[in-house]
Amino acid sequence: MTESGDTTPRTASRRHVLAGSAAVGAAAVATGLTGPLAAATPARGGATGAGRPITGDPFTLGVASGEPDQHSVVLWTRLATDPLAEGGFGGMGSRHVEVHWELALDERFRNIVRRGHERTGPDHGFAVHAEVAGLLSGWEYFYRFRVGRHVSATGRTRTAPPIGAFGAGLAMSFASCSQFEHGWFTAYRHLAADEPDLVLHLGDYMYEYKPQVYISPDGNVRDHAGPETETLANYRQRYAQYRSDLDLQAAHAVAPWLVVPDDHEVDNNWAGDIYEKPHIPQPDFIQRRANAFRAYYENMPLRRRSKPSGSEIQLYRKVSWGSLANFHMLDTRQHRDDQACGDGWKVCEDAADPARSLTGDEQEAWLLRNFRESRARWDILGQQVFFAQRLSATGARSMDGWDGYQGSRERVTEGWIDAGVRNPVVLTGDVHTHWANELKENYADPDSRCVGTELVTTSISSGGNGKDSDPSTDPNLRRNPHIKFFNQQRGYVRTRITRNELRADFRVLDRVTEPGAPARTRASFVVADRNPGLTEVDPA
Ligand code: FE
Ligand code: CA
Repeated sequence: MTESGDTTPRTASRRHVLAGSAAVGAAAVATGLTGPLAAATPARGGATGAGRPITGDPFTLGVASGEPDQHSVVLWTRLATDPLAEGGFGGMGSRHVEVHWELALDERFRNIVRRGHERTGPDHGFAVHAEVAGLLSGWEYFYRFRVGRHVSATGRTRTAPPIGAFGAGLAMSFASCSQFEHGWFTAYRHLAADEPDLVLHLGDYMYEYKPQVYISPDGNVRDHAGPETETLANYRQRYAQYRSDLDLQAAHAVAPWLVVPDDHEVDNNWAGDIYEKPHIPQPDFIQRRANAFRAYYENMPLRRRSKPSGSEIQLYRKVSWGSLANFHMLDTRQHRDDQACGDGWKVCEDAADPARSLTGDEQEAWLLRNFRESRARWDILGQQVFFAQRLSATGARSMDGWDGYQGSRERVTEGWIDAGVRNPVVLTGDVHTHWANELKENYADPDSRCVGTELVTTSISSGGNGKDSDPSTDPNLRRNPHIKFFNQQRGYVRTRITRNELRADFRVLDRVTEPGAPARTRASFVVADRNPGLTEVDPA
């Protein structure tokens, strides 16, 4: 493939598959996916193991793909006939099941290029992770699963372009913080409708709370199932509840995802082996962390190398999109020091102690090495917590973000400068608000040069409807001149990345308390090649 050639078959077919699968609605998921396809493609036998035959659709949790590289991608599903069933097995009992998958060049599966099967059962939480290799680079594919006569929704996925190629550009959207109780996941549906090539999820994919303890200012629209998640069964049940959401299923089905968890996938504001501070003591926190990681792996389209070992999981990783972009996906929870000065918003000297680390030494060394070795046009951190300096009216900072680990931030910033990284970009979630920030070499010096750019996505639903604000009078912007945009509505960020520029559209919804709200672009910014910093452009 040449640099300029986007050889991907982009036709009306993509729209067709989305209209016929999970992207459009409940009716499609319920009716379009089992009958005709199953009849046309009879099971090849041995679909189920011992025990009762499966009655009911086992594909209620949808399909997903992730971790694309030049030649391979992970295909995911998890079987559940009754997602909220007690015990976390989604009504699948103790049987083992053979799950067949197909990958095709077209959404009608006329040109199937790979087939395989994976055995799953209670030990895997009925999850399937198929790593499909030997694929064409920079190519669009379609996939589906089958168990007996049941056929899943169709997903669309894509491999990365080869190193040396820039492709025609990358449409990447990123999201964070989807609290099931706080609102409908309409933003996920809008994200899917954009048909991105790649989706990044930056954490708080689910929340651990029992029903009705974390209440949105607009009131909760639905309840979590089960108690606060601590056992493996509870985490599995909670993920099944989230995965049942059809808007979320649409977003997974449209494109491959790169995911990193933040705190709520385990416990609010946990740090390393330390649980949330004001909470009641948790003598079994390490076991809880192991349960949370295991359920996270089971429910995400991760490669086998990210399968947790006890209470540890390997999540930081680099994913290259040809020579256009490197995505450095970070884990800023598992290896961090405890929050300084007892967490919260503080004026805190310890936060500047260079001995403190948000990433841990190993991850930091890996990241700085990535910078030195990078030949990519854009080096993008996919990570969780606020990177730029952010001061409150009293000069306090959030101890949970990079402001609470200033030595880590300085070492990463110097790493960009020392390695001559061409275009450093940081993508962030966690704070339930949109922000666009210029990253400074030295925040204490107003004349310090801009060395990179940070885009912070608001939540999908956490915090309820939120509200719009006038960026030109916002106190956050006046106190922090390197911050160029702030908005408190719900939504996601849509980017378009080419060799010449990165464009970001901050997408917002009027409300999440009723389903189906329209989305609009609240503001758009461009970052030009070799010119860190933000230029506001007309919204699109
Ligand atoms: Fe959150
Ligand atoms: Ca968070």
